[in-house]
Amino acid sequence: MKKSLLIKPFLTKSYPAASYGSGIYIYDTEGKRYIDGSSGAVTASIGHGIPDIIGKMEEQSKKISFVYRSQFTNSPAELLAHKINEAVNSEENYWSFFVNSGSEATETAMKIAIQHFQEQGLFQKNKIISRWMSYHGITMGSLSLSGHKLRREKFVTLLEDGPNAEAPYCYRCSFHMEYPECNMMCALDIERAIKRAGNENVAAFIAEPIIGAAGGVIVPPPGYYEQVQEICKKNNVLFIADEVMTGFGRTGKMFALEHWTSEADIIVTGKGLSAGYAPIGAALCKESVLHPVLNGSKSIMSGHTFSANPQSAAAALAVLDYMNKHQLIEKASLQGKYLFRKLKKLKQSTPVIGEVRGKGLLAGIELVCNPVSKKPFPRKAAVTERVINKAQQKGLLIYPATAGERGYEGDAVIIAPPLIVTRKEIDEMMTILQAVFQELLQELC
Ligand code: PLP
Repeated sequence: MKKSLLIKPFLTKSYPAASYGSGIYIYDTEGKRYIDGSSGAVTASIGHGIPDIIGKMEEQSKKISFVYRSQFTNSPAELLAHKINEAVNSEENYWSFFVNSGSEATETAMKIAIQHFQEQGLFQKNKIISRWMSYHGITMGSLSLSGHKLRREKFVTLLEDGPNAEAPYCYRCSFHMEYPECNMMCALDIERAIKRAGNENVAAFIAEPIIGAAGGVIVPPPGYYEQVQEICKKNNVLFIADEVMTGFGRTGKMFALEHWTSEADIIVTGKGLSAGYAPIGAALCKESVLHPVLNGSKSIMSGHTFSANPQSAAAALAVLDYMNKHQLIEKASLQGKYLFRKLKKLKQSTPVIGEVRGKGLLAGIELVCNPVSKKPFPRKAAVTERVINKAQQKGLLIYPATAGERGYEGDAVIIAPPLIVTRKEIDEMMTILQAVFQELLQELC
């Protein structure tokens, strides 16, 4: 094999080459089988190699694979926008702006929010408030909003003002308080951040309903998003829910915000929208948010060459149909309960597991030096990386996350198998995880 010229996450590390996938399994070119225990980057939510999806994509490619959105609309994209609108649990219509990734969807949401106010003559209202322990994307705008130290630090001079509010991280509360006596200081901190910036300058607040990679799956307490929505309304600030990781059934609901009785003005999506079968993301925007634009310039000033791509839209449509046909959201909720029972049992026999948390089939495991003091491991111990590598060696793929105060030095991993996972397959994952932690404990103790 010639020298690799492909830029991979670590240039000098060798990665197995994927050959093919089937259901929850991926096979490399050496014939080794891996359980896709994290659906890649929490993406391949219906599993690999599903003939229904491949068939629909082939059908579309025989018609047309690309049209430019300024010249044509196309029926897969139109139909997908309708199906997504039906899937959002709201009285109001949500319009879809299709892009190619979660990061682009965040950028689009930011622009829609800013334009919403500009078209009303409120040109100053252009700041977006976000929280620490958050990840909204790798492009400069979305990274500006992201409280993920590692992904920010090299570019910090180019980024806008960073996150402004504390995360709802009850395991290590920034205010050293306990729910419910805390009065949800973390929600009030968002209002404080809006006030600090001046609400006349703030267009939107963005949050992942359940924090993913930048916190190791953090579920805010009951009532949190109801309060957040109230704060946003009171301050004439739009609420953007980043459902890139949590959307399309991952947490046992179509969108994670449904676990609260709260509604977002704009929903950012990606990953599970096409379950990895094609690159696509979308900013879903309430009709009322679009009204000033519909009555004004009539154009959202954004878009990409591949926006509303018919091939990607056909893949996403097929995925949505497949999810409905096989009731995968209900299955995620059911199998999730089983997974959490097993993970909580694993915690009892594993002193380095500080907390197991999550919803549906999105589970986070935070790893600590001491479960009583919750002291994190030093970063140089690279505990997350060791767990990930050991699992991969044993044929289980899991996803790294950061945890700890403001996501700075703590260790966490994410378990998020495809929503088609069976109990038997969960048992198989658990056997490997047990062996991984036994080995880790032997090394650490
Ligand atoms: N938002 C969240 C919550 C994410 O988890 C991610 C990716 O991990 C993104 C945005 C960015 O999506 P993408 O990697 O598709 O650009």
